[in-house]
Amino acid sequence: MSSDVVIVGGAAVGSATAYFLKVALGYAGSVTVIEKDPTYARSSTTLSAASIRQQFSTPENIRMSLFGIEIIRSLKQRFGGEADIGFREEGYLLLASQAGKAVLEANWQVQQAEGADIVLLDPQALAARFPYLNLEGIAAGAFGRSGEGWFDAHSLLDLFRKAARAAGAVYRHDEVTGIERRGGRVEAVHLESGERLACGVLVNAAGPQAGDVAAMAGLTLPVEPRKRSVFVVKCKTPLPGLPLLVDPGGIYVRPEGDVFICGGAENEADDPRADGDFEVNYALFEDVVWPALATQIPAMEELKLQRAWAGHYEYNTLDQNAIIGPHPDLPNFLFANGFSGHGLQQSPAAGRAIAELVTTGRFQTLDLGLFGYERIAAGRPVFELNVI
Ligand SMILES: Cc1cc2nc3c(=O)[nH]c(=O)nc-3n(C[C@H](O)[C@H](O)[C@H](O)COP(=O)(O)OP(=O)(O)OC[C@H]3O[C@@H](n4cnc5c(N)ncnc54)[C@H](O)[C@@H]3O)c2cc1C
Repeated sequence: MSSDVVIVGGAAVGSATAYFLKVALGYAGSVTVIEKDPTYARSSTTLSAASIRQQFSTPENIRMSLFGIEIIRSLKQRFGGEADIGFREEGYLLLASQAGKAVLEANWQVQQAEGADIVLLDPQALAARFPYLNLEGIAAGAFGRSGEGWFDAHSLLDLFRKAARAAGAVYRHDEVTGIERRGGRVEAVHLESGERLACGVLVNAAGPQAGDVAAMAGLTLPVEPRKRSVFVVKCKTPLPGLPLLVDPGGIYVRPEGDVFICGGAENEADDPRADGDFEVNYALFEDVVWPALATQIPAMEELKLQRAWAGHYEYNTLDQNAIIGPHPDLPNFLFANGFSGHGLQQSPAAGRAIAELVTTGRFQTLDLGLFGYERIAAGRPVFELNVI
């Protein structure tokens, strides 16, 4: 058996890649997506907070998310009149103390230059718009008037997957357990079922397991699963117009129907690989998240924890940014990895970029050379100031 392109992992990034190859770019070759769990129960995609923002400090990250919003706005044209991912375009609000104000403003300048619709608000404007906030110690906020919000992650994945399949991409329920290389090329993948599948190009879209998949080809990729807990809370006081709020310490909260979800500020000093560990970190909620929320939004002193879940970030230990493109020594091995908490919104741009590399050997629409593997090999991080 053989396939021109084999994609390892069929969640948001793998399915977006298959979609851009087969549908958007009309690639005539064969595309096979190998997914070990078609329920996606433990994929980052389905366990994510499913939000999109333009508030990054790196132009390439902003451009990727601007393309994400373009896709969300054109769902019906691309996928048909029924397509709906429940997008709530209600903005992000990043709050800064006096110490963080200069960085917030500098980031805003970059966002303005990229055409993102973000406005800077002083404490007076914040108080007028969000009267339920405690603004003691807050010097400024940056609010996304449009182009930011949240949606249903599984629905987006489903749209990409269905369209890719309808255009001929083959999804296989199997696990890649080995990668065969000869000299400077990947020759084939070996599957749990015992099959050998020869391939022309291999795309690593294995999310938190991307480092393990790279290791099968003898490559080093600094991507590993790191646990992130999400808490679902009820607040009896209405908080009209609450966007996705991020406090100066990195705690976030946003509405989800008639409840709220929140989390953030994991202790980076105690953040080990989390293989197989999906236990919710309730201490984080009690000790860090709830106190921070009660400070920022006094009505949240009274909140009630309803439930919680834990998912895995596909954590890039070098710089928490995407790694996109070929390995220099193995040019038919392409990475689409390491998004570290912002990969769902970047999945359309990543999928398109990989599809362009496969079909033309170059980035065509958005130059993502900054996120190439070369920086990993050189130990040269890309510093994104807004990793949430
Ligand atoms: C709690 C949390 C909150 C987040 N919030 C946001 C957010 O608000 N906005 C945002 O943009 N991003 C967010 N993210 C990040 C986002 O979810 C990920 O960046 C994105 O979903 C990555 O998609 P993926 O397809 O690369 O990985 P995944 O969704 O993890 O998919 C990888 C797939 O590969 C399969 N796989 C792995 N190894 C193999 C193998 N050997 N063989 C076959 N299949 C294999 C897995 O089964 C899995 O389905 C969050 C993540 C978490 C955990």
